[in-house]
Amino acid sequence: MRLRVNILFAVFLASWIWIDGRAQSNAPVVSGAHRFEKVADGIFYATASGTMTVGSNSPIIVSGDEALVIDSETSPAAGRALVADVKAVTDKPVRVVVDSHYHYDHAFGNQVFGPDVQIIGHDNTWRRLSTNETLEQFTFKRSLERVPPAVEAFKKEIAQTTDAQQKASLERQIANNLAYLEQIKEVKVTPPNLTFNQSMTLHRGGREIRLLFLGRGHTDTDVVLYLPKERIVCTGDLMESIPSYMGDSYPEEWIATLEKLKALDFDTVMPGHGVVFKGKTKITAFQNYLRDALTQVTALRKQGLSADDAAAKVDLTKYRDEFANVRSVGIDVAAVRRIYQLADHPEPVR
Ligand SMILES: [Zn+2]
Repeated sequence: MRLRVNILFAVFLASWIWIDGRAQSNAPVVSGAHRFEKVADGIFYATASGTMTVGSNSPIIVSGDEALVIDSETSPAAGRALVADVKAVTDKPVRVVVDSHYHYDHAFGNQVFGPDVQIIGHDNTWRRLSTNETLEQFTFKRSLERVPPAVEAFKKEIAQTTDAQQKASLERQIANNLAYLEQIKEVKVTPPNLTFNQSMTLHRGGREIRLLFLGRGHTDTDVVLYLPKERIVCTGDLMESIPSYMGDSYPEEWIATLEKLKALDFDTVMPGHGVVFKGKTKITAFQNYLRDALTQVTALRKQGLSADDAAAKVDLTKYRDEFANVRSVGIDVAAVRRIYQLADHPEPVR
């Protein structure tokens, strides 16, 4: 789940090589909804180009005669666009999809993959996506409720800008937002067809691909894909380059789960949102961020504040050097409500 975003990429564009599906000459037909960054031989990072709402970022791993994709993105339309756009970087078919977790913006494209495609996820992802509970969940519903005010805000910005390029960009964002409301109507929540509880290893085309459940964190379904030889981890929303959404999380366990993540031997992190990054410093910073959030929220709860009032007071601005999107005092109320909820109703592991 990502709350806002887009702007962050611009900062990093200059230093990276991007393969834009729209810019290929003699290239296969692609939707152009994704850009691809080459991270290693046969390993690419798909992000939104801005022409449609796609949700998560998707690592692509080409092994032998097939491609593996992490996350089917936010709608069947986005999932289809991803399958088309992957052709910009490989002629191998997508045979494996890994659901990094059950959130709508990562898994609502699952249905576009036929029975010949393995959709792999945690046992809990199957449990959560084998009913329609995610359609009723706050996390998903908020993505719809955000659209009308966002469109209004974009319209206001359009009225105030004289920059033609800026205006065109805002108009595209309005169109993307409205199209998303239509695209989501097509969703038939589709669970993985191959699940595991702790770990699973795929041996494909000379690659060793380890799928690991390291514990609860962002959700109770977070799968880490680890490539030991390439020293790469794909972390979904368990670890992003920005603070992850906490609304369905287990903050205390999350800190411990990230410790297990750090124990793996890797250099490169390909997250579910944001940008590819190196090393473990950011992970430690996020552990501290979570610990700090938990401590402050717990104290405010003891003082008798409502979750909404507490959310306005939590101060994590000391993490702004590590996470550029932490700008002012206050955190997402969904994070605070979640910490309150777990304090009142602890959820046993299942
Ligand atoms: Zn998520």
